[in-house]
Formats: sequence, structure tokens, C-alpha cells
Amino acid sequence: MNTPAAPLLDTYGRLHDNLRISVTDRCNIRCFYCMPETGAEYVDRAEILSFEEIERFVRIAAGLGVTKIRLTGGEPLVRKDLPRLIAALHQVPGIRDIALTTNGVLLAEQAQALYDSGLRRLNIHLDTLDRQRFAHITRRDDFPRVMAGIDRAQALGFGPIKFNVVAVKNLIEPDIVPMARFGRERGIEIRYIEFMPLDHQSLWDRNRVLLMDTMLEMLRREIGPLEPIPDPDPRAPATEFRFTDGIGRVGFIASVSKPFCLNCNRLRLTSDGKLRYCLFAIDETDVKGLLRAGKQTDEEIIRTIRQTVRDKWLGHEINTNRFVPPPRPMHSIGG
Ligand code: SF4
Repeated sequence: MNTPAAPLLDTYGRLHDNLRISVTDRCNIRCFYCMPETGAEYVDRAEILSFEEIERFVRIAAGLGVTKIRLTGGEPLVRKDLPRLIAALHQVPGIRDIALTTNGVLLAEQAQALYDSGLRRLNIHLDTLDRQRFAHITRRDDFPRVMAGIDRAQALGFGPIKFNVVAVKNLIEPDIVPMARFGRERGIEIRYIEFMPLDHQSLWDRNRVLLMDTMLEMLRREIGPLEPIPDPDPRAPATEFRFTDGIGRVGFIASVSKPFCLNCNRLRLTSDGKLRYCLFAIDETDVKGLLRAGKQTDEEIIRTIRQTVRDKWLGHEINTNRFVPPPRPMHSIGG
């Protein structure tokens, strides 16, 4: 009988079992706080990991205790045949949970194939329910397509479906309450994500972060009382609340005002095969070369994963004067 591999523990005792995989750095919209309108730099297509390489990496990582996979981008649905990868990852022993983060623009047309691949958990990045403000933020007039995608996903039975709302101050305030109302009506959990310094245009500023406590106060005032939901998994990034009238839940990913790095269980694989121990990591380790060097490198890939976890820092340094933005923009790291 195989001896179970030693768990992926870092030097702070944090267990790593959650892998976020960016399957592309391309996107079909242009959120101003993530990408420039024009001139975004992309990885050469030849450098992008194939589905077979991603699957092999996941098999190795699963052997080390990774059980949860989140597929991200850029926009993952612009990657052709994504359902084929999802179906393959569902067959990897040890993988118990696969989720997708999408902007929803292509969801309506791909929902059936995604559903057939076994996918159920969706996070849809949508900052507003206002078509004009959507176009202002994303520089694309795709709001109706996103709403059609949400309708289709719910009709097919995807769930849980959550919305990711990037909370930029002096922009999103008018959307905070309508989003929560929409979530209550449709049984969708709204996740408000404090704006993080991950854009390449250096637009981020502490004064542009709409803080969790401010949003909570808005919801309490406009909708009603909320109570915290005890965390089933304290390592999950969101702090969750339910409305005391029993209708609807909201969550906050308060990376700036209430960092949760002490419980971090996440590793990230970029579309061009770099392993990152943190969203804000400055350093990253290439595994593409090992994946393309042939089947004999499994042990070396295992060593690389373990070393990456051992090298992991305590957490981001956004709230210190040591903070240095990561050398990669959000669209090439993935959420
Ligand atoms: S900032 Fe880095 S260390 Fe902190 S929770 Fe996010 S990925 Fe983990």
C-alpha cells in the first residue's frame, strides 16, 4: 500500500490543498482596474500549458494533498474546449471540488457543455447590475450577455453560484445594495472583494478601497440586520454573513482591511506554467520546463511544489511600507 505523501505544510504550519489554475491570460472584456484598454501583454500561445500538462500537474499535486481546484483566467471561457479539461480533472483521484471564476460573457453559450463536464460551482465576476456602469467599468457592452449567462446557469442547475464584486470606492457604492437585493431574489451569494493592488496601470490607491465595514453598514441600513455565519472552513478567504430574515447571504474578501493570510491554503499555477505561493508573490517557479521535459520528472515536480510551499511568506504586505506590487498583472495571475 502507498504511504500517503506528507502534507503540503509551509513553515507557518499552513496546510495547502487548494490550487488555482489560470488557463489563459486573455480576456474578452477590459476592466479598467485590471487591464489597459489596449496594449495588454500576453504570453505566447506556445508557452501556454496544454490541457494534458495541466492535468498531469494536478495529478501530481493531488498526490500531495491538493483536493480543491479553481479555474480562472484572464477569462477561462475564452480557452477553447475548456469542458474537456474540466471533465478530465474530475477524474483525477483526490480532487473533490472544482470551481470556475468567469465574467459570464460566454456563459450562456457554454453552460450546457460546462454542466455536462461535471462543473457545478461558479463565481461570476460582475460589479454592477447597471448596463451603463458595466460598460464604463469593462469597456464592453456585454451586460445583456452576462445576464443571459446567469439565467442559463441557474436554469441548468449550477450551484452554488456566487457573484464577485470588486469594490472600488467612488464607483461601486450605488451597486452594493442592489446586488445584495438581486442575490436575495435569485439565491445567489454576493461576494464583495476589496480592491487590491494588482493592476498594471498602478491605479490602486488605499483611498480607492471600499472597505468591508463600510459595505456592511450600507447593507444593514438599507436592507436589514446581518449575522456572521460560522466558518465551515476558516481557511476560505471570505467572511460570510446572512440576513437575519433568512433571505440571502453575502461575503467579504477583505484582503486590505482584514487580511486572512494566516489561514491561507492556496497555491497558484499561471497559464504559462509558473507556480506561485501567493497572489502577490514577487518570485515564482517554472514548472513548464519540467512538464515538457518528459514523464521522468514527476519527482522533480514534487520537489518543486514542496519547495514553493516551504518558501511561502507569511502574507501580502499591502499594509506595510515594504509592499511591492507583483510583477504580473491580475489577468495573468488569475483570481
Ligand atoms: S495574499 Fe497571498 S498569502 Fe495572503 S491569503 Fe492571498 S494568496 Fe494567501
